[in-house]
Amino acid sequence: MKYDVIVIGGGHAGIEASLVSARMGHKTLLITILAEQIGAASCNPAIGGLAKGHLVKEIDALGGQMALATDATGIQFRTLNISKGPAVRGSRAQIDMDRYRIYMRNLVLNTDNLSVAQEIVEEIVTQEGKITGVITQLKNHYHAQKVIVTTGTFLKGLIHIGEYKQEAGRVGEFPSVHLSASLKSMGLRMGRLKTGTCARIDAKSIDFSKMELQPGDENPLPFSFRTPRESFSPHQLPCYIAYTNQNTHTIIESNFHRAPLFTGQIEGIGPRYCPSIEDKINRFRDKERHHLFIEPQTREATEYYINGFSTSLPPDTQLSMIHSVEGMENAKIVRYGYAIEYDYVDPTELRHTLETKKISGLYCAGQINGTTGYEEAGAQGLMAGINASLALRDEEPLILRRDEAYIGVLIDDLVTKGTKEPYRMFTSRAEYRLLLREDNADLRLTPYGYKIGLIDEKTHDRVVKKQRELCEGLEYLENTFLTPSHENNAFLESIGEEKITDKVSLQKIVARADFTTQKLEKLAPLIGSFKEDSKEQILVEAKYKNYIEKQKNQIDYMKEMMNIKIPPLMDFSSISGLSNEVVEKLQRFNPPTLFAASEISGITPAALDILHIYIKIFNKK
Ligand SMILES: Cc1cc2nc3c(=O)[nH]c(=O)nc-3n(C[C@H](O)[C@H](O)[C@H](O)COP(=O)(O)OP(=O)(O)OC[C@H]3O[C@@H](n4cnc5c(N)ncnc54)[C@H](O)[C@@H]3O)c2cc1C
Repeated sequence: MKYDVIVIGGGHAGIEASLVSARMGHKTLLITILAEQIGAASCNPAIGGLAKGHLVKEIDALGGQMALATDATGIQFRTLNISKGPAVRGSRAQIDMDRYRIYMRNLVLNTDNLSVAQEIVEEIVTQEGKITGVITQLKNHYHAQKVIVTTGTFLKGLIHIGEYKQEAGRVGEFPSVHLSASLKSMGLRMGRLKTGTCARIDAKSIDFSKMELQPGDENPLPFSFRTPRESFSPHQLPCYIAYTNQNTHTIIESNFHRAPLFTGQIEGIGPRYCPSIEDKINRFRDKERHHLFIEPQTREATEYYINGFSTSLPPDTQLSMIHSVEGMENAKIVRYGYAIEYDYVDPTELRHTLETKKISGLYCAGQINGTTGYEEAGAQGLMAGINASLALRDEEPLILRRDEAYIGVLIDDLVTKGTKEPYRMFTSRAEYRLLLREDNADLRLTPYGYKIGLIDEKTHDRVVKKQRELCEGLEYLENTFLTPSHENNAFLESIGEEKITDKVSLQKIVARADFTTQKLEKLAPLIGSFKEDSKEQILVEAKYKNYIEKQKNQIDYMKEMMNIKIPPLMDFSSISGLSNEVVEKLQRFNPPTLFAASEISGITPAALDILHIYIKIFNKK
């Protein structure tokens, strides 16, 4: 049984990887433990959020599936941080997790070039450092030139609920035990991490009248650039907000001695930014209450997910703490919360293509690389699939830079710095976040998606038009001036704007704090005829012109700096300010340029700056 590409795992990373590989024309096999669970949301029934929304838009702009699936199955859509700057806004949707899973499973099964096998991969087969295939528990031997491992939380997965322990990849699913050993035997450095989830509650047993209503946006926007905005009108369901209280905290605290997190039962490191409720109560003892978001899991809303209440406390404690929350006094638990520990591969074992450095043709993507979240997983799966396919075509890899995409930041962080705790994306991780907005992800990335054959002609044409309208609009605003004449000031007043006293460009007027696209249409009729997303783009770029230019200059400086040659005779140990680890790595790898140095794991931007200064001094000697 011969394939071009084998993808192990039908989670969020595996779906994107296998779809991309098949769509790029390669005979692909997706092997997964349960076909039924392809696209399952292991934890919260939601896609996107701050910085995660950026990743979903970028996956979409490159030709991935996550945004389209979300639009098709979403039950609530919101733009977070709407009152803040466009760079930090984030799209988020509640999904019907059953329908999302079925959508993805059917899509995968209906895709040409893509086959599915419900088996458990136990062994990776190599020959002289090159991948040749995999062997499953049924002793089927599948051959392929490229293998992408996307096994999520399944590698030696161990579940904890109080004192109860169970080997599982997710609750009720087999763990993946032998594969972990196989990866280790190839010399890959591995570690152990932990994550957790909350209990799910029977909707009939919740008194929503005691909770705050959290509706979706009045005019919801789709996630995908390919979903027409005009016809997007999903039927939305509300979420609710509840709070923990002192009683809840007392119940949790008095059961710390039974919490696997504190008793030493759990060894893996958990997500610092998404802690369990027992961890929150322990770390923030002075906090009077914590928010809980009560979210429907499906359109039928028969079960609710309690976002913010992840726990591995024993079942009786879970019930007591839930009953202490207003509106959940009589709540019935359908599924208990749990923690899971699992093995992961140290991502510094990977190149920027997500191929392992030690085994040619073997790629890893998703939670196995130490990340957490569907979006982080999907983004890596997409890139691993693209790069495995490009390698099969003998073409240059697609490596997105930090100034091009959050995906670039994510992968660069992972492969150069590694991670000791579950890594999730934040807007603060991106140095050039004003350039990496959700709204311009298509302008940044769709040309790449088109070039490699993942984006169709029509979508590409639309993006080219948006780019053209953006350039035309900005040029018009910058080169058209208003004088402080009576007519002009009367016009400004009529659109609710302050009068002017000097001649100013339209761009300066648009840059005012409360300027809107509606006003823009009146101020510049040329722009009024453009498409809605072009107008929004022009507004943002005109408003933040100075900051955007500053970031572009920084990028140019960085690009220039990266080409600088490191003198071969340079003595790294004499450079003050570099850590011993950095010196040791520079001595070991002897990078010829600053760019090559930046590719070495553990070489931070601060270390590069210091090196840059010393190169200048060295060259002057
Ligand atoms: C209990 C729990 C709590 C979580 N909490 C959070 C959270 O709070 N926040 C957050 O952002 N994320 C959370 N996550 C993580 C989120 O679910 C993952 O980040 C995301 O699903 C990772 O996607 P993935 O594709 O890498 O792996 P998964 O979605 O886990 O998919 C892995 C796939 O690999 C398959 N597989 C595994 N081993 C083999 C094998 N040997 N052979 C064949 N197939 C195999 C499995 O069947 C599965 O289909 C949680 C996950 C769990 C389980």
